[in-house]
Amino acid sequence: MEAPIYSPSHSYASPEAIRKGLQAWQAALAQFDKAAHILEASGHPLKRGLIEFLRRPKRELIVNFPVQMDDGSIRMFTGYRVHHNAVRGPTKGGIRYHPDVTLEEVRALAMWMTWKCALVNIPYGGAKGGVAVDPAQLSPRELERLTRRYATEISLLMHPGGDVPAPDVGTNPQIMAWIMDTYSMHTGFTQPAVVTGKPLEIGGTMGRVEATGRGVMMVVAEALKVNRIPIEQATIAIQGFGNVGSHAALTAHQMGAKVVAVSDIHGGIYHPKGLDIPRLMEHVRRNRTVVGFPEGEPISNAELLTLKVDVLIPAALENQITAENAPSIQARILAEGANGPTTPEADEILIEKGVFIVPDILCNAGGVIASYFEWVQDLQSFFWTEEEINSRMERILKRAFYEVLAKEEELRPYGLKRGDYRTAAQALAIGRVAQATLIRGIYP
Ligand code: NAD
Repeated sequence: MEAPIYSPSHSYASPEAIRKGLQAWQAALAQFDKAAHILEASGHPLKRGLIEFLRRPKRELIVNFPVQMDDGSIRMFTGYRVHHNAVRGPTKGGIRYHPDVTLEEVRALAMWMTWKCALVNIPYGGAKGGVAVDPAQLSPRELERLTRRYATEISLLMHPGGDVPAPDVGTNPQIMAWIMDTYSMHTGFTQPAVVTGKPLEIGGTMGRVEATGRGVMMVVAEALKVNRIPIEQATIAIQGFGNVGSHAALTAHQMGAKVVAVSDIHGGIYHPKGLDIPRLMEHVRRNRTVVGFPEGEPISNAELLTLKVDVLIPAALENQITAENAPSIQARILAEGANGPTTPEADEILIEKGVFIVPDILCNAGGVIASYFEWVQDLQSFFWTEEEINSRMERILKRAFYEVLAKEEELRPYGLKRGDYRTAAQALAIGRVAQATLIRGIYP
């Protein structure tokens, strides 16, 4: 077989990964342009140069680095760290380990982080990072060596006051601990505030592991209220049963809703009367997949997305709801646990159908809010209770939710489609970053 040609931005990514990454980046730009357009129509235009500034990432780092494998061989890996915008504060964003990570995907995710932090009004800019790797194929020692080397390679961009990574797909608290330790070894003293999502023992926060999924359900609870659906009668389907999906499922279960279907990369399960989520989580702990759970019937990922449910929560990856399957979506509320799960074409179709979309930058912001709390606690070396974390997070999410609803009403006379909460949320966020940029001024 011919060796793939090295291209700096993609390394040896497959054509499919490159296509998916580009699609995510184009979706992020299309959403931005739509929001910028509506801001202009409503009499709050962004200056021409400002649009260009906000559309572009501030800096992008590509690193190629070797890792020694357990059998003594050496393998090369490619990683990225992108800072999209740092006007409102240090950049914040997760680190993804997935074989399809590309520069374009990381860039899209970094841009969404900028809008997410501005939308919930926490003092951060947006960033993202990742390594093109399947972590399941590595031994724990290989994973540690890869993480420590990647952290070293990107350490010129990381700083407690400058850029603070966090977990995302394929990474977890142990990986964050290795990043914190590596950075601390280089600087000579312990620096917990350089990364969030750490284990509790080394400066992690109560509630961080659950925060994104729990936050998704806090926002869904409000969306159900607005749509006059009692939560005890609500049916929910969740695609992806990782950190976000499983904790959204558990919180939904605790709130009294019926989670009728969940899935992961291997397949899904369905029970019309509602799945027993704590037992399912136990099954996943033992088998590492939802497949084979005895109290339900198998269902495919494609079938799950089109189930007739009150709430559909995509909590896996980008580009899952597309022009092809959007016409068959039957959910009344689409709550985006994942980042970028809906393509712009699908968005149009769903808005026309009257689906109530809770956009990603609002729906999954619980994770970055809890990360922000972790960072604040680390900087002050003063720790809060889980109740404090959850109640403060809920207050922030609820405020952002109703601000988005109000923005949608405000922008409707200027051509915003009824129910286009994504564009309303982006307009709110972009307006805040634009305003901060103008107040700071353009250096020099
Ligand atoms: P994870 O790695 O813990 O879980 C991902 C899950 O998705 C796994 O269950 C996996 O099997 C499943 N999956 C992957 N491909 C799939 C497919 N094609 N069909 C069905 N299931 C599939 O990742 P996570 O941290 O839960 O992140 C999920 C999404 O939420 C991502 O879009 C991520 O960017 C976003 N997000 C995560 C956080 C966080 O705090 N972890 C915060 C905000 C947003």
